[in-house]
Amino acid sequence: MFVDRATIKVKAGNGGNGSVSFHREKYVAAGGPDGGDGGRGGNIILVADPNMSTLMDFRYKRKYTAENGGDGMGKRCSGKDGESLVIKVPKGTVVRDKETGAIIKDMSDDKPFILAKGGSGGWGNKHFATPTRQAPRFAKSGLAGEAKEVTLELKLLADVGLVGFPNVGKSTLLSVVSKAHPKIANYHFTTLYPNLGVVYAGEGVSFVMADIPGIIEGAADGAGLGHDFLRHIDRCRLIIHVVDISGSEGRDPIEDFKTINEELKSYNPDLAERRQIVAANKCDIIEDEEKADKFRAFIREQGYDLFEISAAAHMGIRELIQAVAAELAHLPPITVYEPEVIEMETAPASPEDIVINQYDDVWILEGEWLERLVRNINFSDYESRMYFDRSLRNAGVYDRLEDMGINEGDTVSIFDIEFEYRR
Ligand code: GDP
Ligand code: MG
Repeated sequence: MFVDRATIKVKAGNGGNGSVSFHREKYVAAGGPDGGDGGRGGNIILVADPNMSTLMDFRYKRKYTAENGGDGMGKRCSGKDGESLVIKVPKGTVVRDKETGAIIKDMSDDKPFILAKGGSGGWGNKHFATPTRQAPRFAKSGLAGEAKEVTLELKLLADVGLVGFPNVGKSTLLSVVSKAHPKIANYHFTTLYPNLGVVYAGEGVSFVMADIPGIIEGAADGAGLGHDFLRHIDRCRLIIHVVDISGSEGRDPIEDFKTINEELKSYNPDLAERRQIVAANKCDIIEDEEKADKFRAFIREQGYDLFEISAAAHMGIRELIQAVAAELAHLPPITVYEPEVIEMETAPASPEDIVINQYDDVWILEGEWLERLVRNINFSDYESRMYFDRSLRNAGVYDRLEDMGINEGDTVSIFDIEFEYRR
C-alpha cells in the first residue's frame, strides 16, 4: 500500500530530577552535599532513509516517546541519560507542525534532525554548595521533554515528472528508459502509486524520473485519482507532458494537452511555469494524420519542444532523453523547502504560572511559561538575553522577588539558567 501522508505525536524524554543528599561516612560527623544531577531526556531524531518509499509504517504506529532521564543520586552520581529515539522516514518527507501547518523540516538530505529535544536534567544539591551555603537542602527538577504533533507528507525527489491522461503511455516510457518496473496495461488507472526510475543519459549523466498516476479532469479539485499525487511533481525540475497523438482512444490530443495544463495550474500555479517538454507518444499507430498535424502545429505555436516517440516500439526515445538531460544541465536543482518560522508564543504569564521557592539565598523559579521561555532563548546571544530579562520584568517576576525579600547578590535559578540578582 502506498501511504504518503500521516500524522504522528512525538514526545522527547523528560530530564531526571536532581538529588538532595549528604555525604555520610563513619567517623565523619557531617559530610558535604553530594546529590547528583538528573540525566538528560532522550531526543526524538528523524533520519531520511533512501530505502523507504512510503509512510505506511506511520498508519499503525502514531505515538513515539523517547526515554526519560534518570534521577540523580547520592555520592555525586548523575542520573542516566535517556535513550534517544530514531524515527526513519522516506527521503523527501516534509514535516509540518500539525496546528499551524508551518514547515518544520524537509527531510531531503542525509543529516539527522532533532524533532523534539529531551529536557535537561535538574541539578543536584552539590551544585548549590558555596563556602557560605554548606548544606543546601534543595535540588532542581528536570525539564520536560518537548512534545509535538506533526504531519508527515512525502513529496518525491525527482528531477523529471511524467504527466498526462491515463493510458497515454507514461509507465511504458519510464520502463523503457530506466530499470523501474511500473505496472503497464491497457486500461485506465493501472498505475496506483508513483514510481521512480533512474535514467542514464550518458557517461556520468543521470537523472530521476517519476511516473505518477494519470491526472484526470477535476483532479486538482479532488475528483478521482491523481489529485493526491500531484504533490509528487511539486519538486520536479522539468515536466514531460505525455500525450497520445495516435487518437487511438478517440481523444483529441489538443484538448487533452490543455486540460492537463489547466489541472496543473489550478493545483499549483508554480507548476504552470515549470519547464515542460511534450512527448507525443504512440506515433507508431497514428490513425488520423490530419489530427496529428493539427496537434504538431498547435504545440509549435505554443512554443514547446515536441518529441514524437513510441514508447512501446522504442522510437524517438534517445532524442527525448538527450534533450531532457541537456535542459536539466541548466535548470535549478530540485526544490528543498525551507523551514517556516513559527512565532513564539507571547501570551503574558499570570502569577500562578510562575512558582517561586526560596532556599536561603537561592530563589528557584519554575512553571510551564518559564520553561517555554528558557527553551526559546539562545543565551549566547546578547539580544536574546535582553529579551529574556524584559520578559521576566514584564511578567512581574522581579517585583515579586523584591516583595518576598530578595537581596542583592542572591542567586536566581530558572531551570538550567542561573544568575546573580542585581537591582
Ligand atoms: P499510462 O497509464 O500513461 O501509464 O499508460 P501505460 O504505460 O500503462 O500504457 C497504456 C497502454 O498503451 C498499454 O497497453 C501500453 O502497451 C500501450 N502503449 C504505451 N506506449 C505505446 C506506444 O508507443 N505505442 C503503442 N502502440 N502502444 C503503447
Ligand atoms: Mg501508468
